[in-house]
Amino acid sequence: MTHKFKVKTSGKCEMADITAAVAEIVRANDLESGVCHVFVPHTTCALAINENADPDVKTDILCKLDESVPEDPAYKHAEGNSPAHIKAVLVGSSLTVFIEDGALQLGTWQGLYLCEYDGPREREVWVKLIKA
Ligand code: ZN
Repeated sequence: MTHKFKVKTSGKCEMADITAAVAEIVRANDLESGVCHVFVPHTTCALAINENADPDVKTDILCKLDESVPEDPAYKHAEGNSPAHIKAVLVGSSLTVFIEDGALQLGTWQGLYLCEYDGPREREVWVKLIKA
């Protein structure tokens, strides 16, 4: 089965911490050892694993992505959100995390983030747990 939850983003671009929501799905399903796949069914947001301690890291990532993928009147996509589509392609729409002893195996400073690039919106996150 696929577990789903929603994330309401509040800014145009932000990194929303979804670590606790995914960890709760793992905990509630009593999976001792396996793999957790996380996926977003969207084309203008993404998923990333990165630092969960210093919030300035998120700011730096968002700023540098803005610099790297600026607005450009030459974009052909009529919806006007090509930078968001490009950032979503660069960052990626899925993650895989190992599960051991019933818990996500993350490094000390790692958290899971839904990366919004065309918010604010309500996003959906899909999680699939595989025993292994
Ligand atoms: Zn678009």
